[in-house]
Amino acid sequence: MEHTLLAPGGRALTYLRLSVTDLCNLRCRYCMPPEGVTKLSHSDILTYEEALRLLRVASSLGMDKLRFTGGEPLVRRGLTSFVKRVNDEGLFSQMRLTTNGVLLAPLAADLKAGGVQGLNISIDALEPDVYAEMVGMGGESGRKLFRQAWGGFMAALEYGFTTKLNCVPIRGRNDSQILPLARLALEYPVTVRFIEHMPIGPDGIWKESAFISASELKETIEKEFGPLTWLEPEYPSAPARLFKPRGAPGAIGFISALSRHFCADCNRLRLTADGRLKPCLLTEREFDLRGPLRHGTDDEELRNLFLEAAGRKPISHQSAETVQTDCRRQMSRIGG
Ligand code: SAM
Ligand code: SF4
Repeated sequence: MEHTLLAPGGRALTYLRLSVTDLCNLRCRYCMPPEGVTKLSHSDILTYEEALRLLRVASSLGMDKLRFTGGEPLVRRGLTSFVKRVNDEGLFSQMRLTTNGVLLAPLAADLKAGGVQGLNISIDALEPDVYAEMVGMGGESGRKLFRQAWGGFMAALEYGFTTKLNCVPIRGRNDSQILPLARLALEYPVTVRFIEHMPIGPDGIWKESAFISASELKETIEKEFGPLTWLEPEYPSAPARLFKPRGAPGAIGFISALSRHFCADCNRLRLTADGRLKPCLLTEREFDLRGPLRHGTDDEELRNLFLEAAGRKPISHQSAETVQTDCRRQMSRIGG
C-alpha cells in the first residue's frame, strides 16, 4: 500500500504503538512514582472495539507495523483475544509487544498463535535483589517477580519470538548488571538493548551524574568482550545501533535517545490507552481521538485527525532540560 501518512521532512509514518493500559504490576523507579499514578477511570480507556476501529483507520493510511505496549500490556484482561482479532483482520504486516515479562510465560503460546512475532522484554538486572530494587518491590516479592520475568524471557525464546531484552542502566543503581546482561547475547539469540535513561518519569530520578551514555556503555562492554562489530540497521528508522560480539548468537544494541537524536528517521505515532494520538514521545502535544470517536465521527474525520497529528510531528526534540519540561506524561502513560 502506498504510504499516505507523511510527517514534516517527508517521513512516512508506518509504525503505530498502541498502549492498551496505563496500569502496571511493577513500579520501575525511572518510570513510575512508588505510590503509582492516579489511574485512569475504566471509561477513560478505549474499549477493544474502539481501539480496533482506530487500528483499521491507521491501517487504511498505510500504517503496517503495530506494537502493543502500556503500562504493562499483559495486565489488561482479554489482550490475547484482542491481538488475535487484530491479526485475523490482517491489518498489519508485523505485530510486536513490549512487556516486563512477569506475566508472559503463561500467555506466550496464545500471543504466538495470535500473530505476535516479536517481543521486547524489559529486565533491568539479573541479580534478583538489584532487580527488586529497580522495579520498586523490595524483598521476596521483588525476587519472585524477577523469577517470573526470567521465565517470561525463557518462554519467549522457547516459542521462537524475535526477542529483544531492554535495560535502562542507571549509575549507582543497576550499573553492576551491564556486563551480566550483555553476556546474555553470547548465550542466547537475543538482542540485548541498553536504553539511555530519558528525563521523563518521576521527578528527581533523572540526574546527569547517574546518566550512562551509549558511548560509555559500549566502551565498558568492549573492554570485557573485545571489539564489537557494527551491524547494518534492519531499517533506517531502527532506534538502536546494533553490534555483534565475536561468535555470539545474539547482538547488543544501544538506544541513545538523548545523546544522538534519531528524529529524522522516526516513523512512529503513539496512541495512548485513553485514545490520544501523540506525534512524538518527547513532546506534550496530543490529539484526542476518543472524544470524536464516541461522538459518532465517521472514519474520514478520524483519518483527518491522523493526518493532522502526522503533520504536527516535530522535526526534532531538544535537550534533556526541554524534554523534562515539555513532557509531563510518564512513559507508562504514553506507551514507551
Ligand atoms: N511495561 C512494559 C515494559 O516495561 O516493557 C512496556 C511499557 S514501558 C513504558 C516501555 C519501555 O520504556 C521499557 O523498556 C522501559 O524500560 C522504558 N522506559 C520507561 N521509562 C523510561 C525512561 N525514563 N527512560 C528510558 N526508558 C524508559
Ligand atoms: Fe511498568 Fe514498564 Fe514502567 Fe516498569 S517500565 S513501571 S514495567 S510500564
